[in-house]
Amino acid sequence: MTLFADARKYIAGGVNSPVRAFASVGGEPVFMRRAHGAWLETEDGQQLIDYVGSWGPMILGHAHPEVIAAVTETAANGLSFGAPCVLETQLARKVCELMPSIEKIRMVSSGTEATMSAIRLARGHTGRDKIIKFEGCYHGHSDSLLIKAGSGALTLGVPSSPGVPAGLAQHTVTLPYNDSAAVIKAFAEIGDQIACVIVEPIAGNMNMVLPVDGFLETLREQCSEAGALLILDEVMTGFRVARGGAQALYGITPDLTTLGKIVGGGMPAAAFGGRAEVMNSLAPDGPVYQAGTLSGNPLAMAAGLATLTLLEQKGFYTALTEKTRTLVNGLADIASRAGIPLACESTGGMFGIVFSDDAPVRTYAQVAAADVDRFRRFFHGMLERQVYFAPSAFEAGFVSAAHGDAEISRTLEAAEAVIPTLA
Ligand code: PMP
Repeated sequence: MTLFADARKYIAGGVNSPVRAFASVGGEPVFMRRAHGAWLETEDGQQLIDYVGSWGPMILGHAHPEVIAAVTETAANGLSFGAPCVLETQLARKVCELMPSIEKIRMVSSGTEATMSAIRLARGHTGRDKIIKFEGCYHGHSDSLLIKAGSGALTLGVPSSPGVPAGLAQHTVTLPYNDSAAVIKAFAEIGDQIACVIVEPIAGNMNMVLPVDGFLETLREQCSEAGALLILDEVMTGFRVARGGAQALYGITPDLTTLGKIVGGGMPAAAFGGRAEVMNSLAPDGPVYQAGTLSGNPLAMAAGLATLTLLEQKGFYTALTEKTRTLVNGLADIASRAGIPLACESTGGMFGIVFSDDAPVRTYAQVAAADVDRFRRFFHGMLERQVYFAPSAFEAGFVSAAHGDAEISRTLEAAEAVIPTLA
C-alpha cells in the first residue's frame, strides 16, 4: 500500500490541506521526511530542489541552524504558557520596526485567523458590514472570504463552498483584480456601507500577478474617502518581496496588514496589525473580540524572531531578487527557444510562471485561460528530474537564500530536458 493510500484511510482526502493532494496535477503526492537548505528529502530517499518552501515561510532555506537553535533552546523551557512572555514583545517590536504602518500588532496562529480577525476588527471599528475582495485572491478559508463574485449585482456574493451561509455571502463584494474602474464604481454605489477592502498587494494565489500602475493607489484613495479600511494581505508577500513587504515596494500605507508564513519562520504563527487607533478597538482595550490559546506561542515567536533577524543582513534581498530573476529568465529563455509560450515574472524571492502567450499576465481571466495540461506535464517532468514546483498551475513559486548557483543550474538543466517536450 502506498503512503498516500494509508493516509487516506485516516485523514480526510489523505491530506491536511487540499492542494497537497496533487488533485490538479494528477498522481499521488510525494511524502517528505526531512528538509535542509534548498532541498527536500522524500520518504523513499530522493533529494528534491524545493521551490515551494512550505508555501512561503522558508525564506532562509529549511532547517537554518540559527532558527533551529532558537526553537530547540526555547522548547527546553516549555512549549506553551498561556501567559505573556517576552519573546512576544520582541517579535512584535521587530515587525513594527520592519513595517512602519504597523503601530500595534496581535499574533495568531494561521493566515486564515489573521485575515478573519482583521475583517472582524474592520467591521467592528467602522460599524459597517460589507467588505470588498478580489477574484483570484485567497485570504484563507474563513466564511466571509470563501465567496466568489455573484452575477453582476454588486451586493450579491455567492458562497464558493457549501457550508458558507448565503446570508453572510451577501456582505462580500468580489471585484476583478487590477480593475480600478470597478473599484471606483463600487465605492460610488455603496461606499458608505464598506467596512474594508482586502487585497493581496501582489497576488500569489492565482500564480503570481503584479498590480498594475495605480491599482493599489486607487484602493487607498477610495478607502480613505469613504471611511473604509484598507487591509493589505501580506501573508505571502510580507518579508518575501522586500524587507518591508509589498507596501514598502509600492509605497502604499494600509490601515491594517495581515502577515503569516515568514513571520513564523516555519512554525504556526501569523499576525495582523496596523494603526494604533484601529488596533485599540480589540479586546481587552476595546469591544471587538479576538483570542487564541496558542497565540504568541514561544516556539513560534522564537522561530519568527530568529528568521526576521537574519533577514536584516545587508544585501539579503538584492541577492534573493537576483537569483530568483536568474531562475525565471533562464526558464523564459528555454521556453522561448523551444517555442513554448511561457509568461515569467519575479519580484523579490517570489515568482510566477504561466503557460500563456498573453503576457504580461495581469488579470485572473488570463491565468484562468492558461494551458493547465501543459503545466501538469511540466510539473511531472521536473519532479522526475528532482525539482519540486508547487503542484498547481495557480500557485506562485518561492526561492530561498539557500538556493545557490548549483541548484539554479540544475533546475535549468532539468527544464532544458522537459520544456521542449511540452509542444
Ligand atoms: N492570505 C494569503 C495571501 C495566503 O497566501 C494564505 C495562504 N496561502 C492565507 C491568507 C491563509 O493562510 P493560512 O494557510 O496560514 O491559513
